[in-house]
This record gives sequence, C-alpha cells and structure tokens, in this order.
Amino acid sequence: MTIPTPIHILNVPVHPVTYEDFLIIVGDYITQGHPRQICTANPEFVMTAQRMPEFLAVLQKADLVLPDGVGLLWAAKRLGRPLPERVTGSDGIYVLAERGAREGWRFFLLGARPGVAEKTASILCARYPGLQVVGTYPGSPDEKDYPEIARRIKSVHPDILLVAYGAPKQDLWIAAHKDDLHVPVSIGVGGAFDHVAGVRKRAPKLLIRLNLEWLWRLITQPWRWKRQLDLPRFVWQVIRYEHQHR
Ligand code: UDP
Repeated sequence: MTIPTPIHILNVPVHPVTYEDFLIIVGDYITQGHPRQICTANPEFVMTAQRMPEFLAVLQKADLVLPDGVGLLWAAKRLGRPLPERVTGSDGIYVLAERGAREGWRFFLLGARPGVAEKTASILCARYPGLQVVGTYPGSPDEKDYPEIARRIKSVHPDILLVAYGAPKQDLWIAAHKDDLHVPVSIGVGGAFDHVAGVRKRAPKLLIRLNLEWLWRLITQPWRWKRQLDLPRFVWQVIRYEHQHR
C-alpha cells in the first residue's frame, strides 16, 4: 500500500496509519526485501529530536514513523490533521506476532536484559502457534557488540528485527546497521519485551483509555521524571507553533 503523507509535528514526520495499515506495510516491506526502518514515536522522541540533530535525521529518514503516544494524537488534531489511532510498540508486538504466525514471518528479538527477549519469545510462541522466532539476544547498542550481533542475525535470515534498546539508542543503532544487516523490517520497540515478559507492568487498560499512560510511567518509574518534563515542554511548543502558523 502507499504510505500516507506524514504529518509533521515540530519537524518530526508521523504517519497517519492504523494497526491494520501497519501490518499491510510490514507485509509489503517483507515482500520487497530491502532494509526498512520503523520507529514508534511519542512526545519524548519529538523533544529529544529537537536537541539531537542526528536523531531528528533518523526520524526524518525512517520509512515509517508510528504514532505511539497519545500526545502525538493530541498535537496532530490541534494542527488540523488528526491521526486515526495510536499504534504502539507494546501492542504492536502482539498484532505483529499474530499476523506473523499466519504469514510465516521470521522474527529476531534483540535487546532488553538477559533472558527477557527469550521469555518474550516463549510467551508469544505459546500464544500464536506457528510463530517463528529465529533468534533472541540481549547484546548492547555498544559498537564492540556489533560483530557478534551481526553474526547471529545474519546466520538466521529474519524478516523482522525488533530492537529493544530504548530511544534514541535503538533507532540510531538501526539506522547505522540496517544496510549491513539487510533485514527487511527493523523496528525500535522500547520497553515492549519488558511488558510482554512481565518484567515491567504496563498501565492498566483504564488508564490507557483515559490517555494517562504517561502518568503510570511517572509513578512506576519515578527516575524518569526529568525525561517526562518533555511532555509539558512538548505541549507548550505545539501550542506556540500553532499560534505562529495560524
Ligand atoms: N535496554 C537495553 N540496553 C540498553 C538500554 C536499554 O537492552 O543499553 C533495554 C531495557 O532493558 C528495556 C528497553 O531497552 O527493555 C527499553 O528501555 P526504556 O524503557 O528506557 O525505553 P523506552 O520505552 O523509554 O523507549
């Protein structure tokens, strides 16, 4: 399918897609075969990109930027181009696994603490019979680990590489290595393995529905408060942008 024109939120392109579009696009990328990068963006991404030109460049060059983060839906609406729905890494991993089990897609799970990717793989394989996880490895985004990671990935020819090193590391890592690894689809999924494996609890459904997942993260990971200051900064900058461009 043709990728819809992105909406730019403070210079970061975000694609107005649904979960179903996402799955179709992933399928197309696998058929086409050349390496593509998908990012799961939220307001923290956008604010980090304002301070870090190399991260902004990666987001601008990514093949698909998913609206993971309710703040982006809010901003898009204010800027007059509403996004159809939130498409998150943490739910996206389940829908990908479900579709992948039917389509025969081969997954490699890279990152998170030792044992977490393996546990994620066994939970997903039990839930979606036929799912092919052809490799898991914690590794690290450190360059000294790259040769071993590349060796493991290249030997099993995955279709989809899920990378859980947190943003912006995972996205910079994918941009730097995707052409060498030659996996058709690489996606930075943040804390998604931790959520599937139950190492970290995702917000209760009610809070997610009330658009308060960010509040849950603040309470359960208080050390993130500095990073989360990006949320009010994001709101302020979007409002300022909107006033300047009226
Ligand atoms: N992580 C990792 N290596 C690193 C940094 C992070 O494997 O050098 C993993 C961490 O264990 C977690 C994931 O990256 O599973 C996401 O971390 P975080 O919650 O910071 O990312 P976010 O969801 O904010 O993008």
